[in-house]
Amino acid sequence: MNYALRPVANGCDFAAELNPEQYAAVTTEARHALVIAGAGSGKTRTLTYRVARLLESGVAPWRILLLTFTNKAAREMLERVARLTGRGSEQIWGGTFHSVANRLLRRHASLLGYMPGFTILDSDDQRALFRALIKQITGKSSSKERFPKPEVLISLHSLAINTNRSWQQTLSDDYGHLERFEENIAKIFEAYRQRKMESNAMDFDDLLTNLVRLLRENDDVRNDLQDRFLHVLVDEYQDTNTLQAELIALLSGGDHTSLMVVGDDAQSIYSWRGANVDHIFNFNLTYPDAAVYKIETNYRSVPAILDISNAAIAQNSRQFVKTLRPARCDGKLKPAIVPAPDNRTEARFVAQRIDELMADGIPGKDIAVLYRAHFHSMDVQMELSRNHIPFRITSGLRFFEQAHIKDIVAWLRLLTNPRDEIAFRRIVSTFPRVGDATAAKLWQGWLAAAEKWFAANPGTTTITAPHSEVMKKVSVPTAAKLYWGGFLSSMDSLHPADRELTPTELIKLVQNFMSAHLRATYDNYEERLEDINQLTRSLADMPDLDTFLSQVALLSEVDNDTVAADDDCVTLSTIHQAKGLEWKIVFIIFLGEGLFPHYKVISGGDTDDLEEETRLFYVAITRAEDQLYLSYPRYNGHSYDSQYCPPSRFLTTLPEELFELWNI
Ligand code: ATP
Ligand code: MG
Repeated sequence: MNYALRPVANGCDFAAELNPEQYAAVTTEARHALVIAGAGSGKTRTLTYRVARLLESGVAPWRILLLTFTNKAAREMLERVARLTGRGSEQIWGGTFHSVANRLLRRHASLLGYMPGFTILDSDDQRALFRALIKQITGKSSSKERFPKPEVLISLHSLAINTNRSWQQTLSDDYGHLERFEENIAKIFEAYRQRKMESNAMDFDDLLTNLVRLLRENDDVRNDLQDRFLHVLVDEYQDTNTLQAELIALLSGGDHTSLMVVGDDAQSIYSWRGANVDHIFNFNLTYPDAAVYKIETNYRSVPAILDISNAAIAQNSRQFVKTLRPARCDGKLKPAIVPAPDNRTEARFVAQRIDELMADGIPGKDIAVLYRAHFHSMDVQMELSRNHIPFRITSGLRFFEQAHIKDIVAWLRLLTNPRDEIAFRRIVSTFPRVGDATAAKLWQGWLAAAEKWFAANPGTTTITAPHSEVMKKVSVPTAAKLYWGGFLSSMDSLHPADRELTPTELIKLVQNFMSAHLRATYDNYEERLEDINQLTRSLADMPDLDTFLSQVALLSEVDNDTVAADDDCVTLSTIHQAKGLEWKIVFIIFLGEGLFPHYKVISGGDTDDLEEETRLFYVAITRAEDQLYLSYPRYNGHSYDSQYCPPSRFLTTLPEELFELWNI
């Protein structure tokens, strides 16, 4: 008899693992393609398989650019690609807009007037700088006049950039109540720009604007990049803002470059950061030759959850109408609506139900509790702790924004960029008795000495001689005398003459210098030490300090994934941070009218804002695969100031047959 061997599997069987719509998109030859489809229909999967397919057809990995919403998402997709194809995917350009911009600018920043080792200012640095500038420019008048807080000015500044408007325009469009401060705001923004330049620093928005500027103004760089990238792929396209859309156009502008974007207009939830759903609506206008693919099957959720999702989003007027059919036909439980007498009881319900599910063998990693605002999670955090249920929070204070981590990182930043004023001030203000005025004086002296050294050593951007020598002549105010010498010799030991220390070694040294400060400043010193150890553990493999610092700055903004994922941990997350993810069991809490949708949106009466809240609700429900619990507290707050809270309109408008009411 004849015995036939199966063909050797070379990579994966695309047609078998994708439905026809997905397969068509994965194999498209169209120069521009849009995949528009509802939640859980396999958009991200389509992109992942397309990358795998491109590799298999011989495209070099470094000619593929994959833009995602978090760096973690890119990493997961590329790991998947590696598994599918059996070959490495490390050389693929993948990550957020910010991280890709950072990589490109590291090579070319000098063309824009920066020096190579530029620092990235994260939101905390920005706040510190704005606070100082507000004080400097408005003087004492600020307290009387209720001058806007740093956060408000930063939002205004950023929104203007991300929506491609002048800040004056943005001020009159969106911040009308601040127009009387226009003159001072102008001064502050100008001073901010100058300070950043002087410190050789970029904030997050600069990463994008500078890259756009570089590509617009520099033909060589643009041509080079447009030649390099053969395929540009973008996930979550509904949340791109004007600047990002322009970047995409520039990066995919080569004659031979293909562009594929995937998204779901119903999940656009970042308009407050300048995202504009028109980019997806008008994709056909921008790229008239675009092929459009729609996927109409949902693979994620059981039919009962899909029914609720469809009902929830049906209320919005402006959308590509999509009919999603379930691929699954299982699922015994209807989604539950759970009114709780108050927030404590709601939390007890969540904890007890999670406890039962875990006892039934469902691992914590398959369970998520989602909410509109971080503080909504307080009671659930406490209840879970009380019940010894491990959890991780992706919404709270991010790892790298914690003061003690920033204290440590400041030393390393100063080491690579002696012009980094913010890092310098952060360090010296940890010395006892050193206040703002002393810090400012020290900075003047430090900077003058550093500039003198750079002038004598052209071409350098770090100080390679011992700091104790270079800074010898700095005049030191009495308040700082005691610590200044120690500080300089500490800096020296970070920079031994014979070799360069690794990031891990540097952190260990800095931790020693700082231990007295940490002990004196933070009452939970031990836990904070644990964080620092975690920092050295998770970043042990960074090749050099520049890479490490860019990584830290980028992580602090977009991701929160440095703490090792623990299979047993339940996830607590804001809905915004849960975008694109999925869990078997999802709890959505605080679904009271005024909590979600937020009372400001309700009283503001703006339909667009309300529709964005509805999309946010839609994003939340569509994270669930098997079970969904929608709960709210009838009374919110402690007994003396509790507020009556009716159920959210998102719940009361759902057809009754779609859910089960659970009375506690
Ligand atoms: P979201 O809008 O939430 O980002 P999405 O459209 O990107 O969702 P994916 O996350 O890619 O959807 O897919 C949802 C789930 O369905 C995943 O678990 C994915 O593996 C699965 N899935 C998608 N397509 C298929 C398919 N053809 N066969 C089997 N499973 C699929
Ligand atoms: Mg997705």
